Amino acid sequence: MQRFLSILVLACAPAIAAAAEGLPLADPPAGDVLLVAQPHHDDHTTDHGLGGLVTRFIDEGYKAYFVRGSNDEKDGAHGYPRNDILNLKEAQDAVRILGMEDEVTSLNWRNNFETSYPLNELREQLVFLVRKYKPDAVAGHNAWEHFQKNPGHRNLAWMYEEAYWLAGYRNVYPEQFELGLAPHETYHYFGKARLDWGLGHRPNVAVEISEENVRTKEKAIHAHQNVYSNPAGARAIKARLAEDGLYLPELEDVEDDNAAGNTLLEWHMNWISRFQGEAAGVRYAEEFFYMDEFYHLPGLKKFLSENVKEK
Ligand SMILES: [Zn+2]
Repeated sequence: MQRFLSILVLACAPAIAAAAEGLPLADPPAGDVLLVAQPHHDDHTTDHGLGGLVTRFIDEGYKAYFVRGSNDEKDGAHGYPRNDILNLKEAQDAVRILGMEDEVTSLNWRNNFETSYPLNELREQLVFLVRKYKPDAVAGHNAWEHFQKNPGHRNLAWMYEEAYWLAGYRNVYPEQFELGLAPHETYHYFGKARLDWGLGHRPNVAVEISEENVRTKEKAIHAHQNVYSNPAGARAIKARLAEDGLYLPELEDVEDDNAAGNTLLEWHMNWISRFQGEAAGVRYAEEFFYMDEFYHLPGLKKFLSENVKEK
């Protein structure tokens, strides 16, 4: 672990401030590149994150890249090939809306067959991508959220958490250096989680996001029309309201039921951003399990937090 101790630079650590109540707020660390790796086309912007985090990093000068681990063939009502192509296209649209770099790296593993993956091969690909993009921070799912039922979320995050650390070692996959790559270490991992599943590993920070960040992620999520188009849901709500002689102008005064369904999706994204913000004492936020450069050394982390002073 000597190599980690030698690079302890406090200036690079994100500022973590205690909010009035709830989770402490974490800011993006100083840096230039965020590499987001997740199994599915829409994982960068679902209700439990991390579209707000991505846009906040971009606001602070980062370039952000998205890696889609699976080919998403089961997500959507079409056959496998069409779902794969539609979901890839919509992932590209969404990352453009978020302001990420205009390229999606698809690893094309089969969706929901993760337990038979050669996980070491997936990890090798992720090590390669960390060395290629040289991220200062990485983000994905939190693999240690105990009640994570989705095998793609769990397995890709598990391999990514190993990869972003192993990528720094010269004796790990040394054949990659023949391609002109060099070892690269990263010290900041932001893991998102389904917080309504069980009572496992809980988030430890909240990242404050602006109203504009929230608006952007509301648009990015409904780029994924292959899985989120919800005209039937909008029709059902309108019918239910009509039974009581009520209506919502925002749902009536739109183009069609599909647009009304997108409005519902935006409301949900807005609600959860406010909900998580309120819990951290700010207007909007997203919650994460954050591992910094001292995460694996809790004793040192505690010592530093108690003893380091500004000059
Ligand atoms: Zn997913």
